[in-house]
Amino acid sequence: MKDSSPLGDATRIIHNRRHVDAQGSPYSPLYNTTTYRFDRTSDLLDVIGGQGEGNLYTRWGSNPTIQELEQGLAQLESAEAALAFGSGMAAISATLLALGRQGIVCVGDLYGGTQELLKQLQMLGIPVTVLLKEQQVELAQALTTPDMLVYCETPANPTLSILDIRELATVAHAHGARLVVDNTFATPINQQPLVLGADAVLHSASKYLGGHSDITAGALMTSDACMRMVAPWRKNLGQIIAPEVAALLARSLRTLPLRVRQHNDNALAVAQAMKAHPRIRRVLYPGLPECAGHALASRQMNGFGGMLSIEVDGGFEEAAAVADNLQLFLLATSLGGVESLVSQPCATSHFALSVEERQQRGISDGLLRLSVGLENADDLIRDLEQALARVFGE
Ligand SMILES: *Cc1c(COP(=O)(O)O)cnc(C)c1O
Repeated sequence: MKDSSPLGDATRIIHNRRHVDAQGSPYSPLYNTTTYRFDRTSDLLDVIGGQGEGNLYTRWGSNPTIQELEQGLAQLESAEAALAFGSGMAAISATLLALGRQGIVCVGDLYGGTQELLKQLQMLGIPVTVLLKEQQVELAQALTTPDMLVYCETPANPTLSILDIRELATVAHAHGARLVVDNTFATPINQQPLVLGADAVLHSASKYLGGHSDITAGALMTSDACMRMVAPWRKNLGQIIAPEVAALLARSLRTLPLRVRQHNDNALAVAQAMKAHPRIRRVLYPGLPECAGHALASRQMNGFGGMLSIEVDGGFEEAAAVADNLQLFLLATSLGGVESLVSQPCATSHFALSVEERQQRGISDGLLRLSVGLENADDLIRDLEQALARVFGE
């Protein structure tokens, strides 16, 4: 293994470990503990004073199971460091509080929970500006003081619109700001924002990283310097991931590259079938050449992801009826699990927006968002076709 070529993503995450297990287990044991005992007070003082290696208390992030997970998370995003959190919103809130206090400029559509949080941060006096689209001039004008934060998601929910990470990073850095990207939809396998110039990447690990709709967790991947600014917020807001959940997430990550590549393939197959369907008006998927973001996505992504949206003929009633007639796609919010999910953004994630706000963002009442899972793609396509046939009587 002296070859200088770097190992691939799957190899690295499968062989991610910090210690060689004394019992011969290929994977590290779960350290299910809150605290750690010392032989002598002087040893404890060494650790507290930073002279000695050792753990003190799990909430501080001081836990071998969590630290090994963080090493793997950092590698996945080509980052110097990572922090694991109890949820995606925990990761987002700690990061915005640590790095966004001089002001936050949001670009494009954001996750509903993040939008709510931004309103709460405004209540604390943090200036927040929202730009609906990527507009270089407006962005530059909004970055009025040093150390501000530019925040975005790409692909965005639910229109799968694509932002140019490299360009946003250039504008942010020219004005002394940092760029933070929520990479939940893309996954580290399909998109590496840090390599494209971003300063920090966030994930709801409840989605693809966990991948089985059974754990709630979050992650931040960034430089050592930024990590050290966010860590005290995680510690004192009490947002640490539980060691049991960290062990489950570490297990999920070993199949992340494999799962994501299959999500990509399945979503493309579903997108192409829906594009050919007479009752589907629009298919929003960056993997389709006719989609607005396709050229940019082809440059900055390694795969187009497992999320897509379809616009059904008619409006709210027809789309709801299609969703209700699906048998394999489960009617549920969330995304990124092995099972396929369907949701109607105007009734779920974007329910709180006014009709005008939804129109501005291209979220029509007939839009259905699909999280394409790992079932056989043919079965998923047949499921959509039978639901459409029932609703439209064909
Ligand atoms: C789900 C989600 C979040 C929030 O994550 P939780 O784990 O539910 O706290 C943040 N951003 C995006 C894009 C998401 O999809």
